[in-house]
Amino acid sequence: MLKNNPNCARIFCIGRNYVEHVQELSNTVPTKPVIFIKPATCLIGPGEKIHFPKHGKELHHEVEIVVKIGSEGRVVREEEAISFVSAVTVGLDLTLRDVQADLKKKGLPWEIAKAFEQSAPIGDFVPYDKSVELNNISFGCKVNGIERQRGNSQDMIFSIPRLLVELSKIWVLHEGDLIYTGTPSGVGPLEIGDTIEIESDLNGSFSWSIVE
Ligand code: MG
Repeated sequence: MLKNNPNCARIFCIGRNYVEHVQELSNTVPTKPVIFIKPATCLIGPGEKIHFPKHGKELHHEVEIVVKIGSEGRVVREEEAISFVSAVTVGLDLTLRDVQADLKKKGLPWEIAKAFEQSAPIGDFVPYDKSVELNNISFGCKVNGIERQRGNSQDMIFSIPRLLVELSKIWVLHEGDLIYTGTPSGVGPLEIGDTIEIESDLNGSFSWSIVE
């Protein structure tokens, strides 16, 4: 559990929200958001060590913009949606790609590929106010100092307000809920010994090392 977000019970994650990433994994562009959930116990703060999961071989980085919900929202309208956001940061939706590929083939749920221990490293939050433009955040990740992913929130298929609308049709949004908003292209493998650094022009950078 994160000290700076003790109220968090749920992490909503959006899949396939950038066209080039959809294409790199040979998926089809969705007409509705692809949604899955990680429990809040998956979160780890900057500087902790990430232990390579023992139940898979291909641990992929997916850097994403993450927004925090600040107040209860039921069936949110798009015009008001942004007022439910209280803070923003960047995070990693760590994914065991080999495990996920096998689950997809069999039509099974994704949890063991996506919602394992330490699967949601996250940076420090910056409070969201009207001076922050959520639709134009540049963000990315480097592995051992070499850039692997670079994206901009303006390229999302479903914008942050739209995601809040769609999520709130299914769940009541609660203070402390997090939304991982999808990854741009460039996802790839992490190995034991690697250091991964994620950053955005709003938040600065945060890093983790991968250990056995
Ligand atoms: Mg993702």
